[in-house]
Amino acid sequence: MPDDMHHSSSRRTVLTGVAAGLVTAAAASGRAQGAEMTAPHAALVDPENAYPRPPFPEQSQPWPGLAGKMTPRPDHGETSYRGSGRLAGRKALITGGDSGIGRAAAIAYAREGADVAIAYLPQEEPDAREVVALIREAGRKAVALPGDLRDRKYCTSLVERAHSELGGLDILVSNAGRQRHQDSILDISDEQFDETFRTNIYSLFYLSKAAIPLMPRGGAIIATASVNAFNPSEILLDYSATKGAIVAFVKSLAKQMVQRGIRVNAVAPGPFWTALQISGGQTEENIHNFGGNTPMGRAGQPAELAPVYVLLASAEASYITGQVYGAAGGTGVG
Ligand code: NAD
Ligand code: MG
Repeated sequence: MPDDMHHSSSRRTVLTGVAAGLVTAAAASGRAQGAEMTAPHAALVDPENAYPRPPFPEQSQPWPGLAGKMTPRPDHGETSYRGSGRLAGRKALITGGDSGIGRAAAIAYAREGADVAIAYLPQEEPDAREVVALIREAGRKAVALPGDLRDRKYCTSLVERAHSELGGLDILVSNAGRQRHQDSILDISDEQFDETFRTNIYSLFYLSKAAIPLMPRGGAIIATASVNAFNPSEILLDYSATKGAIVAFVKSLAKQMVQRGIRVNAVAPGPFWTALQISGGQTEENIHNFGGNTPMGRAGQPAELAPVYVLLASAEASYITGQVYGAAGGTGVG
């Protein structure tokens, strides 16, 4: 057994022993003295059973959908995420920050000490209000900037307003996305193709171009890609093509941005329980069994992605750029 594995397994024994009150066994291991004995430790979580498993109740909402009307409600970390100052004083803009993965990132960023601007569609105001309240409850500044990312002018003004209202911009999370399933390329209208590309990849270009001149060294850009960039679903042709484009964009931009001291990374989620899926993103049958085809047999919840967005934004990730982080319940990127 490699030495590091040996150490971690004997340390685990110690911690488990203390938890069960088996002080004698812990002391006998010879590693039980010091901080490990007294420090509080995090509860172990069984990943397979940590969150709801399919079947999910039948449901659909008109696009873009509201997280607040989903059954079960997605977990964005509202009651669970605990910060530890990892983003203290940072200023962040998160698109699609009203719901789903963007909301989980917004909650986590605020609890880590960042002021947060969220962008979303005007129809999503009820979800956005909840996020604004949560950011303020964390003692941070919240800025709500609704608009349509398919519009180039909005993209540019969004960055400028976030920068001026937050008093700076250190983190851009380009997370908003549009996904509409179609069985065949013959069913994808020119309009749909255009809208998917405008929402998912053009906005990343416009937002990055506007943000980079405003960002200091140490800043971070994070884009939300998808496992569909690597293993595209046959019913998500246009969507998958944009996600592949996001991966290439991030990897290229990361190389350019080294000299500016800005790190650029992407996150590639598998199936996560969000409004995107129940508002035209998936077939009813796929919603019923959502996440059931992953090795873990369940969907991810947005809260499970927040730590990745925190890491990629934080100074702790200073050597991490041009990367794509997967979280897909057992399948991966590549
Ligand atoms: P979500 O519906 O909660 O969030 C998507 C957000 O995109 C919406 O809240 C909306 O504010 C925003 N948006 C869409 N079109 C817009 C437009 N024209 N203008 C402005 N904003 C617009 O769903 P989510 O799953 O959290 O999606 C976040 C990101 O995660 C998306 O890029 C999505 O492609 C990606 N993703 C999701 C999954 C999943 O299974 N949920 C998997 C892989 C990748
Ligand atoms: Mg939303």
